[in-house]
Amino acid sequence: MMNLNRRQFVGAMGSLGAGSLIAGFPSIVLGAAKARVVIVGGGFGGATVARYLRMSAPDVEVTLIERNEKYVACPFSNEVLSGEREIASLTYDYKAHTARGTHVVHDEVTAIDPVKKMVSTKGGKRIAYDRLVVAPGIAFDWTATEGASPELEKTMPHAWKAGENTLLLRKQLEAMKDGGVAIVTVPRRPYRCPPGPYERAAQMALYFKHHKPRSKVLILDDGETIAKQALFEEAWAKLYPGMITWMSGKNGGKILRIDQKKRLLDTELGDQTGDVISFIPAQKAGDIAIATGLTDKSGWCPVDAMTLESTIHKSIHVIGDASSAGAMPKSANSAVSQARVVADAIVAALSGKPAPMPYYTNTCYSLVAPDYGFSIVGIYQPEGGKIAAVMGGGGLSPTRAPAYVRKAEAEYGYSWLKNVTAEAFL
Ligand SMILES: Cc1cc2nc3c(=O)[nH]c(=O)nc-3n(C[C@H](O)[C@H](O)[C@H](O)COP(=O)(O)OP(=O)(O)OC[C@H]3O[C@@H](n4cnc5c(N)ncnc54)[C@H](O)[C@@H]3O)c2cc1C
Repeated sequence: MMNLNRRQFVGAMGSLGAGSLIAGFPSIVLGAAKARVVIVGGGFGGATVARYLRMSAPDVEVTLIERNEKYVACPFSNEVLSGEREIASLTYDYKAHTARGTHVVHDEVTAIDPVKKMVSTKGGKRIAYDRLVVAPGIAFDWTATEGASPELEKTMPHAWKAGENTLLLRKQLEAMKDGGVAIVTVPRRPYRCPPGPYERAAQMALYFKHHKPRSKVLILDDGETIAKQALFEEAWAKLYPGMITWMSGKNGGKILRIDQKKRLLDTELGDQTGDVISFIPAQKAGDIAIATGLTDKSGWCPVDAMTLESTIHKSIHVIGDASSAGAMPKSANSAVSQARVVADAIVAALSGKPAPMPYYTNTCYSLVAPDYGFSIVGIYQPEGGKIAAVMGGGGLSPTRAPAYVRKAEAEYGYSWLKNVTAEAFL
């Protein structure tokens, strides 16, 4: 048992409330210690685990540690750029989690000790766990492009963590002259939300079409192919003819270095510049995953395909964007699907039972205009130790579909957003 003096104990109890998971003082139910699950990160992944643990295992103590009091969801935040949506419609708090009995702690986790099974926070708390879920999302790898640095957030907003940075990008588009060029850069793979940059280009073009019709969007892409390529190319040509140009890595899209002062993006085929630039940096697992040694050389966290338990540290599950989840893309829908699996796996482990066979799903809608959407669906299961796509289990919207199909898909997309945010935050 860890030694806390009286002052430390009272302080810790005051900050977490009675019945909390203070190290060495586990909650007691009828003389038996409750199992303690701590979740780091209250995004789509972490928040959904909290929900399902409270629902399926009311005797388990669940603590959700999230640095921010408000969460701004990224899905459909590209619509903020076109003016079709207010950021408030994507903003959630954690009141529903508190009401359900989760201990919500707004603090930043600064260290995890996988041996002592202890989490430390910036605010000075030390919280013990039996099982830990790490769901910190992404961090930006500013070292991946020469000349890049976090300063770029202010001048070339990535808007890849929705919130203030999204609003900054919107402001820059509003301030841009008609006839200007907006650049969207696409980083090395994998990154969160593979179709997101191409949806962004469409939403920017939508805004230009209505307000600055002589303006253009240029996509500078590190890669050679894009998610839902035929569908995007068809939509761009139909809705925004001549307004969007996509340059693949080999055709001048790969950015070799950035001159921040001159606003130059140096590619193999020469310099590019734009009136507005959304520079989306390369990505890796959230900092706390790296600091805990949960990542491998890919920068992401290897996990067991059945339980999403780290293959590096026992009793720690990593979900969402931070994990290396085989064939699953890094998306909110993947994070929520993984959260359901982890909640089951944890309940099984705490009851000494084997984890049930999981199946994972992902559905991703792209909105290129309010009445024009399309989607991709994937179903995944463990195969040969990896999370693999189930053959014939998914699908892609057809190209050349009539307008009513595109409109219906847009409506399904809006319903999807309602459902997935309700599952995580309401
Ligand atoms: C423009 C855009 C559009 C997108 N569109 C879609 C879409 O249409 N469909 C879809 O499925 N996905 C979409 N995504 C992807 C989706 O947003 C992410 O995949 C999803 O948010 C991942 O969830 P997560 O829980 O892993 O991480 P996050 O949602 O990023 O949550 C991580 C949380 O952990 C917290 N945190 C991190 N470190 C700490 C710490 N040390 N201590 C305490 N708290 C910490 C963070 O504050 C954050 O709240 C989009 C993304 C972008 C950028």
